[in-house]
Amino acid sequence: MERWHGTSTLTPRVRGAVRATLLKVGRWLEAEQPEAANPGSWTRQTCAAWIAALDRMQVGDYAQRTAGLKGRVGKPLEAATKATQLSAVRTFFRDCQEWEWIRRRFDPQRALATPRSIAALLGPDPRVIADEIWAKLMWAGLNLAEDDLPQSQAGNFYPLELVRAVTLAWLFSGQRSDEIARLRVGCIRWQHDGAEITGDSDQVLARDAVCLLDVPAHKTGTAFTKPVDPILGQALDAWQANRPAQPRFTDRRTGELVDLLFAFRARKVSTVYINKTVIPALCRKAGVPTADVRGNITSHRARSTIASQLYNAKEPMTLFELQAWLGHRSPQSTQFYAKISPATLTRAYDDAGYFSRNMRTVEVLVDRDAVASGAAAAGEPWQHYDLGHGYCTYTFFEQCPHRMACAKCDFYTPKNSTKAQLLEARTNLQKMHAAIPLTEAEQAAVEDGQAALDRLLQQLADVPTPAGPAPRQVDRPAGAALLPIVAVNRRPAT
Ligand code: SF4
Repeated sequence: MERWHGTSTLTPRVRGAVRATLLKVGRWLEAEQPEAANPGSWTRQTCAAWIAALDRMQVGDYAQRTAGLKGRVGKPLEAATKATQLSAVRTFFRDCQEWEWIRRRFDPQRALATPRSIAALLGPDPRVIADEIWAKLMWAGLNLAEDDLPQSQAGNFYPLELVRAVTLAWLFSGQRSDEIARLRVGCIRWQHDGAEITGDSDQVLARDAVCLLDVPAHKTGTAFTKPVDPILGQALDAWQANRPAQPRFTDRRTGELVDLLFAFRARKVSTVYINKTVIPALCRKAGVPTADVRGNITSHRARSTIASQLYNAKEPMTLFELQAWLGHRSPQSTQFYAKISPATLTRAYDDAGYFSRNMRTVEVLVDRDAVASGAAAAGEPWQHYDLGHGYCTYTFFEQCPHRMACAKCDFYTPKNSTKAQLLEARTNLQKMHAAIPLTEAEQAAVEDGQAALDRLLQQLADVPTPAGPAPRQVDRPAGAALLPIVAVNRRPAT
């Protein structure tokens, strides 16, 4: 294991995490499979036994210490934890086989694959901070004052301008804390109409000047430039103008000697400064707890919160735009950050018009006199479905297969007939709208025009009407008229 740790080219943090998992595997082997203590003696059976054990494992099992786990000890491991630990063991065996340290007795990708029962529980679940809490944190950040900063015996260690710049970078840039801590002097560039604005102090920034932030090489990609809110650019510029001369530092990721923007008294600002100092100070000022239902408010949660807000904005960024803005290599990664809000989903669902696509309404005249006089109970028609060219008095109109292109059976009353005119002249009529679900053929007749209507008529030619005879037997004028359906309206007609 130590040999693997010394050879792997993964980042120190990932190497450390893999080693921690391997130590856990070692403890399990000692207790359960001592004969497989040597990686070279692992077989597919050992892999299966490890996966089964991991699947049933609880927080704290085979751990070196449980001090930091607080109330989680004894609870089942989360699916993401299981998947990460399986991935660590896969990586170890793949490398050991690749480097010919052990004989290839199994394929780690298959023998140590994440079981479907665990994989099914994995998916994008960005830990977005609720809008109202985020708004309070933003207010606190924009109004940060000397008194809000943690005090040491010697007063504030960092000047207010530096803390304010770090805070606004967290609130507005959507970058990881590591990238914020590694921003370089001159990382803000102003542009107007596509032309660079030079650092001339006399120059007044145009109102619509664009602020660009140069993000250094990061976990998943090379350096890139992104637009950010001008308020962030102004805060970074304000700190840069006050920043005393500092020695150059070696960039941990690229190995270059660089002028780090966030450095003071010859020390660079730590990557945990946001988590340990900025967030508690903002929560204190905003009067919000440092944790919510999704866990602690951490620096990384700002990234998913900002991404989700941009994705759900009135004029939202597309997934590909968001991918470029966040600096992701693939859109799959972006999905883990951008969560579609219920409000956006509702709007999209309404716009898609699922209900109106499958349902249409038809106007109905309800003869209240016929109902009140008892004629309706005696079998007299009292509902008259308006077909445009006439009325249908069939009580179960909805169930008539010919309702869309009426066959004009015995239930039909033409509008130009005396009977229809007498009906329309009655004063005690109520107009209603009845929703009717459309079949696929009817939908096509509505949306695709005459050809689809002809097809529908052809299909129904020999289907009996509720009155008995099929359309072919009903003496009707050529060319049926389509039911004049109206837009969906669930209210009574006015
Ligand atoms: S065929 Fe008869 S029952 Fe069907 S809609 Fe026409 S009139 Fe009404």
